Amino acid sequence: MNLVEKDSQYLWHPYTQHKTATPPIAITRGKDALLWDENGKEYIDAIASWWVNPFGHSNQFIADAIYKQLTTLEHVLFGGFTHSPAIQVAEKLMEILPKNQQKIFFSDNGSTSVEVAIKVALQYFFNRGEKRTTIIAFENAFHGDTFAAMAASGISFYTQAFQGMFIDVVRIPVPVKGEEETSYQALKDVIQKHNCAGFIFEPLVQGAAGMVMYEPGALDVLIQICKENKVLTIADEVMTGFGKTGKNFACDYIQGQPDMMCLSKALTGGTIPMAITTFTQDLFDAFYDDDINKALFHGHTFTANPTGCAAALASMELLRSAEIQESIVRVNQRHLGFQKHIENHPMVKTTRVLGTIFALEIKIENKESYYGSMRTKLYNFFIEKGVILRPVGNIVYILPPYIITDVQLEKVYAIVEEALEIV
Ligand SMILES: *Cc1c(COP(=O)(O)O)cnc(C)c1O
Repeated sequence: MNLVEKDSQYLWHPYTQHKTATPPIAITRGKDALLWDENGKEYIDAIASWWVNPFGHSNQFIADAIYKQLTTLEHVLFGGFTHSPAIQVAEKLMEILPKNQQKIFFSDNGSTSVEVAIKVALQYFFNRGEKRTTIIAFENAFHGDTFAAMAASGISFYTQAFQGMFIDVVRIPVPVKGEEETSYQALKDVIQKHNCAGFIFEPLVQGAAGMVMYEPGALDVLIQICKENKVLTIADEVMTGFGKTGKNFACDYIQGQPDMMCLSKALTGGTIPMAITTFTQDLFDAFYDDDINKALFHGHTFTANPTGCAAALASMELLRSAEIQESIVRVNQRHLGFQKHIENHPMVKTTRVLGTIFALEIKIENKESYYGSMRTKLYNFFIEKGVILRPVGNIVYILPPYIITDVQLEKVYAIVEEALEIV
């Protein structure tokens, strides 16, 4: 039996209808922006394996840091204990986070980082004796698959089986160009009508919705409205963090600062699952009390795993290196060049670029569903050509490892352009 046959015997994959899905591809090796399957076929990983891998597969620098940590202190519980890797991650992060972020809390993945932020927002008001229980979120948001994260997410097929079982979430439109006023007004109305604790948003780019983008100025207005009404703001930078938008964080583009930030995905350079939620001192202080009931009773067994911390430290060092910063600029310039080349193509409806993120919306008659037939056709076409891209409905996006070569990028662009001929 080959790997794919054994897989079908035992494994249940994410976001997969096993009855109708094509079998998975068994990957045996990765290096830089390339992956190889069990038959030796080569693929360009043009989406950095779900946006986690900025520095390339099997990165030696991160691997060495992990090995060193594994053979020094692989893990120790974080309840009642601490260790240098966790402290160093905090120190390194503080150097690049917005200045108001003063405390960090570790967890294991993007969803749990969101879960923690939402629980902190709700308990913040509980601890102060104020009744505020509604969370505000954008339409078509994606914040993860655990329950509070799912409640905040607005893409229906992820959540439809669980409607009616969620915490209170009210949705407002995304302030895309031309819709800003509608969005501001909706936020003001929601705050008027509900006891709102927090507003969670993907800053500047909604990843899972298909790289939907909006302007920093609009986010500043929304944050300002929240501040005036003492509604806590949560920037979910799980996708946008660590350079994807061209700056360390999407929040570096705005004037205001969120009360909390959620980080994961590229945090460890795509090596070890880990996440962090960051907080202002004011939030921490609302839990700081003689009363034990005011503490944050949340934790995960692997909280602040030292090996994960070592991977995060190495990743942040790489991120800040001149070589990676230059690569981010280079990928952005290439994207802008491709955008110019393709934007007037008759099959292209819109294009958008921010930092290392490129997205293109294909012009079609009927609105394509998320996992519709054209999406499948495109996905299979890209795979056949040796490029990993996962279109969202009729939106094709590219979010490569920063270290992707120009030659590899040109190949990705050429295949995207070719795909416009087959739809
Ligand atoms: C991927 C993602 C999450 C969820 O992260 P997981 O690690 O998959 O749980 C949350 N928010 C955003 C913006 C994401 O892109």
